[in-house]
Amino acid sequence: MQEKLLEIANEAERAIERADTVEAVEELRIRYLGKKGVLTQLLRGMGALPAAERPLVGKLANEVKVRLESLLADRASTLKKHAKARKLAAERIDVTLPGLRPFLGSLHPLTVVRTEIEEIFLGLGFQIVEGPEVELDYYNFEALNFPKDHPARDMQDTFFVSDEVLLRTHTSPVQVRTFEKTAPAVPVKIIAPGKVYREDDDATHSPMFHQVEGFAVDTHITLADLKGVLNSFVREMYGEKTRMRFRPSFFPFTEPSAEVDISCVICGGRGCRVCAHTGWLEILGAGMIHPRVLEVSGYDSEKVSGFAFGMGIERIAMLKYGVDNIRLFFDNDIRFLAQF
Ligand SMILES: [Zn+2]
Repeated sequence: MQEKLLEIANEAERAIERADTVEAVEELRIRYLGKKGVLTQLLRGMGALPAAERPLVGKLANEVKVRLESLLADRASTLKKHAKARKLAAERIDVTLPGLRPFLGSLHPLTVVRTEIEEIFLGLGFQIVEGPEVELDYYNFEALNFPKDHPARDMQDTFFVSDEVLLRTHTSPVQVRTFEKTAPAVPVKIIAPGKVYREDDDATHSPMFHQVEGFAVDTHITLADLKGVLNSFVREMYGEKTRMRFRPSFFPFTEPSAEVDISCVICGGRGCRVCAHTGWLEILGAGMIHPRVLEVSGYDSEKVSGFAFGMGIERIAMLKYGVDNIRLFFDNDIRFLAQF
């Protein structure tokens, strides 16, 4: 019986060593130590042994049982560790691989241009001020020297909310709102960017678009100051070689008034389709602030003077990027927007 026990022990030890999964180890435990296991069956036969041999065989059987239990537990634990290590190895992150870059989007081209314009004028000592988009007739027209029934109102097809309330057609009302706060103090140097609304809709006009108004009031401000400021602006915006010219024009709130052209950014002035073969592109309107606009807001037009100018941000962006349809800016087509 002792020989039989040792034989079982050896066989079991070899089997445990070869077991290569946790499940196989469990099967061996059942085969040798389970209720119907090989060792259990053998011990049931102990009753047939002579009484003198029983303690010795019992002791040996117990030793074998303890040893097998311990070997089974060790093997199972080793296999679990290996399995875990393999799993970790399979999941290990290779930090040298290029990462997945999250999609961040980009600034809207109009935001890019607006920021660029703002930075140029901040550099020239201007401050940024904003005004309401839903405006009173008084600020949008009357205080800017457009009396009721003035034909110049027809140039700006207006969305009226009521008789006295409208969507502003330009950023010029910010002049009057600013002067009401600053008068009679000088100097004032402001740019006012923002949305404006007109009932226009074609390839180069949108019912909603953006303008930047700029104005300065001080003692001894002349047309030369306006030209100097605008010259600095167009050179920063379009390059050192850009030329600029003033053409006489009319706005009720400036006197004299001018349209300002720059040499064509596409052909450099030789003439092309974009500039209609004139070599010039109109980019803004400007002039000396009408004395009546200053007086209405509390300035003495005998003591101070000022200039004002206004430009469309879409127009500047279309020229800068060569965009030929204004609607592209508002269609939210990612193929268009992703290019900026
Ligand atoms: Zn041209």
